[in-house]
Amino acid sequence: MVNIMNYEIKYDTRDNIASLLSENNPKQVELIRKMAHDVLLENCGSGVYYRGLIEFSNRCVSDCYYCGIRRSNADVNRFDLTMDEIVDSALWCAKNGYGSIVLQSGENSSRDFIDFVCRAVETIKKRSVSEELPNGLGVTLCIGEQSEADYARLFAAGAHRYLLRIETSNRELFKTIHPEAQSFDNRVECLRRLKRTGFQVGTGVMYGLPGQTYQMLADDILFFKGMDIDMLGMGPYIRHSSTPLKKNENQFIIEGDDLLRVSLLMIAACRLVLKDINIAATTALQTIDPTGREKGLSFGANVVMPQLTPVDYRKSYLLYDNKPCQEDTKEECKNCLSARVGSVGREVHYNEWGDSPHFKRKGESKN
Ligand code: SAH
Repeated sequence: MVNIMNYEIKYDTRDNIASLLSENNPKQVELIRKMAHDVLLENCGSGVYYRGLIEFSNRCVSDCYYCGIRRSNADVNRFDLTMDEIVDSALWCAKNGYGSIVLQSGENSSRDFIDFVCRAVETIKKRSVSEELPNGLGVTLCIGEQSEADYARLFAAGAHRYLLRIETSNRELFKTIHPEAQSFDNRVECLRRLKRTGFQVGTGVMYGLPGQTYQMLADDILFFKGMDIDMLGMGPYIRHSSTPLKKNENQFIIEGDDLLRVSLLMIAACRLVLKDINIAATTALQTIDPTGREKGLSFGANVVMPQLTPVDYRKSYLLYDNKPCQEDTKEECKNCLSARVGSVGREVHYNEWGDSPHFKRKGESKN
């Protein structure tokens, strides 16, 4: 009989991380899961934090080949939530104990747009202050590439975390999924701008992209480490039928059961390597497996993003096909999620921002 504890799981080099990610022996996968879980408990505790996700506009100037709301997709009804709709959704979160929200949209750098987001953040920060939340809601933005001056305005308005996925850290692969005008270097530069501005910075990648290998995913993790990021939101690539990114039969692609396994191993590997950052179990995970988010939590994630976008607009914010929870109201979402979190022995920490311990520790070591 083989004692699995005798196997050593290593994640100290690119090759070792790549071999961890390609592990498909169920016993080994379980061992990796347990290791990641222990690292999570030691560095972040067992709490799960909510970020109420408000997708407030699907207008987008970018044309990413994989994304359902890309500029060239003429089938999408474009919408913008009103200021009242955004603020009401945010205040619902505050009232229901979600300590934080994420404001997400397509890409837009116009002055009017930035002014609007600044006003929304200021209003939310002011109106969400209560006994439970003395500093108001924590606000994360996910509104794409902007100038340093605009990042500074958004930070001054009261947002303190920002998500900008690099999508892949492999320059060549990046080129195959984006048009020429969208550059890898600018995306990296934006991450640097966000850090200089003072944001807690989150990034992430998609896995299962055509042409993507385990080595590239290992490089992604080393990229996160090199950039010293505070948060991660990653997920499987899921095809949207009216986008140009087609599967090429001759290209390596991770799919089917492997895609779920790799998704979970990516979370675990990031937890093992990066230790004290926040990692989200994303909605895309639930798309490929009905209990994908819970599995994500048990492999080392500690953040979940319940849907707050008004139901009428959700069908216009389909980044990929079969996005789940299109009809669930925010109340249904709340109950369903707390049961899901409980089902893996974890507990939601209400009325807390749940900032990345990594960011806090960086601050402490500077003082
Ligand atoms: N405009 C913002 C928000 C984009 S949508 C920005 O650029 O940051 C948020 C994320 O959805 C993207 O970063 C991308 O990683 C993910 N996404 C888009 N299309 C997807 C698809 N087909 N499958 C899986 N994830 C997708």
